[in-house]
Amino acid sequence: MKTIIVGGGIMGLSTARALKKLGHEVVLIEQGALPNPLGTSVDQHRLIRYPYGAQRGYTRMVRHAYHAWKRLWHDLKMTLYAETGTLVLSGAGDDWAKACAAILTEEEIEHLPFDAATVLGRWPMLSGEGLQDAFYCPSGGVLFAEAIVAALSSHLRERGVTLLTQKKVVAVDPEMGRVTLADKTVLQADHVLVTAGPWTAQLLPGLAPVSRSSRQVVVYLQPPADLGASWYAAPMLLEIGQGQNSGQGFYLVPPRITRDGMRTGLKIGDHTFGPTADPGIDRDATQDEIDAILAKARHRIADLDQYRVSQAKTCFYDVEADEKFQFRQIGPRGYAFCGTSGHGFKFGPVVGEVIADALAGKASVEETARWLAGEADADHIISVPAAASESSG
Ligand SMILES: Cc1cc2nc3c(=O)[nH]c(=O)nc-3n(C[C@H](O)[C@H](O)[C@H](O)COP(=O)(O)OP(=O)(O)OC[C@H]3O[C@@H](n4cnc5c(N)ncnc54)[C@H](O)[C@@H]3O)c2cc1C
Repeated sequence: MKTIIVGGGIMGLSTARALKKLGHEVVLIEQGALPNPLGTSVDQHRLIRYPYGAQRGYTRMVRHAYHAWKRLWHDLKMTLYAETGTLVLSGAGDDWAKACAAILTEEEIEHLPFDAATVLGRWPMLSGEGLQDAFYCPSGGVLFAEAIVAALSSHLRERGVTLLTQKKVVAVDPEMGRVTLADKTVLQADHVLVTAGPWTAQLLPGLAPVSRSSRQVVVYLQPPADLGASWYAAPMLLEIGQGQNSGQGFYLVPPRITRDGMRTGLKIGDHTFGPTADPGIDRDATQDEIDAILAKARHRIADLDQYRVSQAKTCFYDVEADEKFQFRQIGPRGYAFCGTSGHGFKFGPVVGEVIADALAGKASVEETARWLAGEADADHIISVPAAASESSG
């Protein structure tokens, strides 16, 4: 069985790995380099964490995700992850922390309620302004995203997956299993899978309603010198509800040191969807966009004006309005996976495994699609090794 995969982000690469393990021939086509710095999967880091508001299906999927990362670390012979723990905060009128905690309790995922005094005692670089609810999970951490995409690409090359870079696919024929490249080359396989992230609707306009390319801005901060060590020991921070003091919310990725001694930065961003834009152009963040992100964190990071903006970047979400991942059969030989919104990276390896099973006829496409859309009652499609720990490290 031969499969062509269009797109070399975490989803395409992970599915290529899983198909190869099933003995399939795989050709992956990427319009840029691997890693492609414009791709959604390519930044210093992405977060993995259990708190998911009231979304039980995705909360449960995180457990599967951790196991799948462990399988990847084993194959790569390296761990590109640092556990940080997860601090969830909510301001007045924001029930996101409460909603998370209720699901975590029911799913028996460890989390500890904290009052404001405990939060500020442990992390004095934070401010307690308007703080209503807080809890801490010992689990959760930073996936070194760009390093993962690079290592996975090298691994696939060594395993005999054909990786075609700097080749743009301009047409997909899901009836015949064909793709046409910009240079007019036509390639054919038993299956074509499109994992083009925020470019999906450019290639498959019929998927535009479930794959909107949304411009997002993230800001890297240099803390004052005396706080550097505290931030290297800090957990990720999520205040992404809609409270009156949260200013529509923000998240914070703490800095860490990678296995090869590289330092990753302190990053803040928001989860509010941005304007629709072309992910291939206009990638510079404006001062207004930077100021808007800083404004959302100002109530929670004490003395934020003492921090220097070291870098600001744009990145693109591939948005489905309800943030439900979309796995579609688009023809007898064609499939697409998109709509990962702002939360897909953590699931990359497990998504690749379940999609590979569906393409190989080992699982139903419909049930796989329901599970990927976060339907909690579809959790039976994969099994959890009972004795495995929840840590990804
Ligand atoms: C600012 C930001 C923060 C995020 N934070 C998190 C987080 O903390 N945790 C988390 O789990 N997720 C997070 N996400 C979401 C996560 O990064 C995405 O869900 C995930 O990376 C999507 O991967 P992908 O493979 O679908 O898309 P991409 O990584 O964009 O890959 C698609 C690839 O397809 C290629 N391509 C497109 N069209 C063509 C074509 N016609 N021909 C050939 N190649 C083509 C592109 O060049 C690209 O490399 C975040 C996203 C952003 C933007």
